[in-house]
Amino acid sequence: MPKPMPMSNPQRDHPVVLSAPPCPGADPAATACPCLGPGAAADFDPCLQLALWASGEGVWRWAAEDGALRIDGLEFNGRPTTLPPLQIDALLECMHPDDRQAAQLGWRMHLSGAQPNCELVFRLRLQEEERWVRLYGRALSRGVDGRATRVIGTARDISSSREAEESLRVMASAFAQAHDPLVITDDEWKVLEANDAYAGLVGQPAEWLVGSSLLAALPVFDAMLANLSGDRHWQGECEICIGVGQWVPVEVSISAVLGEDLSRRFHIVALRDLRSVRAQEARERALQSTDRLTGLPNRSSLEARLGEVLGRGETMALMFLDVAGMKEVNDSYGHKAGDGLMRSLCLRLQQVCDRVGAALLARWSGTEFAVMLGADSAETEVRAASQAVLAALSEPFQIDAQEVVLTVSIGAALAPHDGRQCSELLRKVDVATRSAKERGHNQLAFFVAGQELDAQRRVRMFTQLRLDAERNGFSFVAQPKVDRTGCAVGAELLMRWPTEAFGMVSPVEFIPMAEKLGLIGLMGRHALHAAARLAARCQATGQRLPVAVNLSPKQVLQRGLDRQVMLACERAGIEPGLIELELTESALSVGLELVAPVLHNLRKRGFGLALDDFGTGYSSLSYLRHLPFSKIKIDRSFVMDLGREARTDTLLQHMVGLVHALGMTVVAEGVETVQQFELLRELGIEEFQGYHFARPMPLEQWEHCVESHGAGQILLPQGS
Ligand code: C2E
Ligand code: CA
Ligand code: CA
Repeated sequence: MPKPMPMSNPQRDHPVVLSAPPCPGADPAATACPCLGPGAAADFDPCLQLALWASGEGVWRWAAEDGALRIDGLEFNGRPTTLPPLQIDALLECMHPDDRQAAQLGWRMHLSGAQPNCELVFRLRLQEEERWVRLYGRALSRGVDGRATRVIGTARDISSSREAEESLRVMASAFAQAHDPLVITDDEWKVLEANDAYAGLVGQPAEWLVGSSLLAALPVFDAMLANLSGDRHWQGECEICIGVGQWVPVEVSISAVLGEDLSRRFHIVALRDLRSVRAQEARERALQSTDRLTGLPNRSSLEARLGEVLGRGETMALMFLDVAGMKEVNDSYGHKAGDGLMRSLCLRLQQVCDRVGAALLARWSGTEFAVMLGADSAETEVRAASQAVLAALSEPFQIDAQEVVLTVSIGAALAPHDGRQCSELLRKVDVATRSAKERGHNQLAFFVAGQELDAQRRVRMFTQLRLDAERNGFSFVAQPKVDRTGCAVGAELLMRWPTEAFGMVSPVEFIPMAEKLGLIGLMGRHALHAAARLAARCQATGQRLPVAVNLSPKQVLQRGLDRQVMLACERAGIEPGLIELELTESALSVGLELVAPVLHNLRKRGFGLALDDFGTGYSSLSYLRHLPFSKIKIDRSFVMDLGREARTDTLLQHMVGLVHALGMTVVAEGVETVQQFELLRELGIEEFQGYHFARPMPLEQWEHCVESHGAGQILLPQGS
């Protein structure tokens, strides 16, 4: 391959013809102008040469005699350039490979006479540069065979026009193929050009659009016009009409441009269809505001909706549904089953909400749901809605062919009565829900003023209870039990929590708190040791009076309970028979298989076992049959109704008979009157406890009582 041709660089304003060096190998006799090769003088007169030079065209000529092509006066990129004479093959070698074939064909066709004119357009490589060249020419003479013997013509560097053409072509294709819709209009918004994307957007062929007004689809408003006349540019979002009543959100960018002669103004309008962007935004918004598992609106969307309604000052009721029983399902059947149950639950709740015309059902947290009732809802609507919820949940759910029943505690607060702010109403409905929960399962509670203070009080109490559990800040009292003759046969140890801030707190309040805080194990140990020490001190006076101590359900399931009780007895130096452990029926609800081994073990070690509050809970006969209780304590509620309701009397009679048949002792709790004592005695009950005999008393008082009676029997003053 030949090297790119060297290029001379003579003075710009010097006519090529005059400056050209003599052409090598030229016939000096045949030409007056050596640079144009053989016969040049005959082909170009000086005027023509000058005219060509002035127009920026070079000249070329070819003669069959030497087969050389001479180009002269050609300006490359504005610089006059002289090229050496070239054989056609050498010229072809200097062309861009893509252009060679066409040039060669054009040349040959012209030589042969098949083409009257010769037009060769090609890229010529010159050292570092490559320029587009057009040789235009015609045969001056042909031989007898018709083949050209001399050809002459003009040569021009057409690079700049090719580039302009190219960029125009690229721009046109970019315009046509642009993904985003583009329109060019005149000053009056008449469409001059529209690309396929725009035609696709408005659903009309591009050629139909030309000549139509863009304003028919795109409303151009004053702000746009003001900007266009100033900055010549406007960008923003609006809607474009793509059919009758069909509007599509678009991002619009309009540029006002002036035509070449500066008299005409055009608008280039670029659009971006925002439908998919909007859809994605909507999906993201929905995801952010939806609970993944249930598909219900989540906490933040509830807050948003609630905020809107409260902001308008509307009357409305807000309910919280705290569902219980899910944790047990998760623990026993696994989380997958739990998730399935959660979805079924939500379905039922949603159906209820639809039925009662609720505005929103949202998942507030794990098993808590919030229901915003409709406009103007108040107490009546809340009661109706909670009835519907309770009815819906009364039907068992099915898990692996097992039936599961969920319960719910419902709290309600009313806006604007209970609060005008979102956070305030939410806090109050939460307080109401807790109060419903404390009342038991399936209860509804409205927020009551002052309840909130209770809630704050509880939080402070929790903190104090933690401190006191650590340093055993509790005291104990004893309530004696008597036999059928009214003689003391033992005592029950009851815990007391004296506090500075809250006074003497009832165990009914602080025992459940201790269970919730995980403090019951520690506190229970304090009670066990106190009971053992009390029994030891009584024994020291010569009286064998057992002390009963209450066990929380959580304690029963704690490992090493037997060792704990043994340790308390050992430390106090008493035998296990002096300690009686009282358990409520709720301690048994965790399952017979879990409780039975613990209780059998305790019984084997010699501890007395009493079933407390009998008749209030599950009252399953199988508990009585399979568990080694020595005593059954009939709950105070039965004793209270005694003699008032014939049915209670009959029931009590049968219960006592049954317990006796199983070989256990019956204790009646809460005996307050002599009549009750009489009636209970008639039923054959063996032991009694209640204010009628003695209220719970300080331990020293009980010890004093025991001591002062010496070895004799303690006859408690009735009604003391
Ligand atoms: P409980 O085991 O059923 O205890 C009997 C409760 O009834 C005691 O209430 C007692 O003061 C009260 N009482 C006794 N006789 C009468 C009566 O004639 N009329 C009335 N109205 N009440 C009577 P207290 O001391 O408030 O204890 C309440 C509950 O707290 C206990 O019920 C027991 O479940 C629990 N508790 C008390 N001390 C402990 C403890 O050390 N550990 C555990 N786990 N629970 C305890
Ligand atoms: Ca008890
Ligand atoms: Ca009891």
